Amino acid sequence: MAIQTTEKYCPICGGDVGEPSCFKRFGEWACSEAHAEEYAKAVRAEKLRAVAPEPRRDYRPARRGCCG
Ligand SMILES: [Zn+2]
Repeated sequence: MAIQTTEKYCPICGGDVGEPSCFKRFGEWACSEAHAEEYAKAVRAEKLRAVAPEPRRDYRPARRGCCG
């Protein structure tokens, strides 16, 4: 019975993850489902940002409506 020495920490709050089998997202263990979801959202947002091009700066929303 080897004791696992790799301790897991919640990526959101940094707390110990006592039972590594409950909440895992993208290879990271979270302390609770809420934090697991939060981490998953953060990772997804990060991936989207990495993939999506920079928002165009020359885009101007119409100020005067369609017939201005
Ligand atoms: Zn947490």
